[in-house]
Amino acid sequence: MNGRDADIAILGGGLAGGLTALALAALRPDLRVTVVEAGPVCGGNHVWSFFDSDVAESAAWLVEPLVVARWDSHRVRFARGERVLPVGYNSITGTRLDAVLERPSVIRIEHG
Ligand SMILES: Cc1cc2nc3c(=O)[nH]c(=O)nc-3n(C[C@H](O)[C@H](O)[C@H](O)COP(=O)(O)OP(=O)(O)OC[C@H]3O[C@@H](n4cnc5c(N)ncnc54)[C@H](O)[C@@H]3O)c2cc1C
Repeated sequence: MNGRDADIAILGGGLAGGLTALALAALRPDLRVTVVEAGPVCGGNHVWSFFDSDVAESAAWLVEPLVVARWDSHRVRFARGERVLPVGYNSITGTRLDAVLERPSVIRIEHG
């Protein structure tokens, strides 16, 4: 970490490390958070998808800025019929995670 100060260092700027850094920046802006990412960008080359019901309503604010595509419902087809399920489906990309991580001034990103 080149001798720089940080209150919390997060090793790995993937989904887990990135979300942790964003949550700390929002909830504990008094802390200086450093994300140490081995790759040239955080997030990598990923698409992560989830249903609305996978994330607690109280935590939706954390993932909302990361969503690049959203469908309000989805259709499930079977051999003898189909149903439309009124549950939202969302996709997050590594590129968006990398961009959002650059916003909070309390987050410092170091690439290895
Ligand atoms: C093909 C595929 C599809 C998936 N689809 C979904 C999905 O749709 N929905 C879902 O919820 N999950 C999905 N997953 C699972 C999801 O990708 C993982 O659960 C999630 O990425 C785990 O997050 P992570 O931060 O632990 O790991 P990662 O996202 O892999 O991040 C780890 C980070 O640490 C960095 N790193 C590694 N070593 C070091 C080091 N020594 N020093 C510094 N940095 C380091 C890496 O470069 C990387 O950026 C999928 C996984 C795969 C493989």
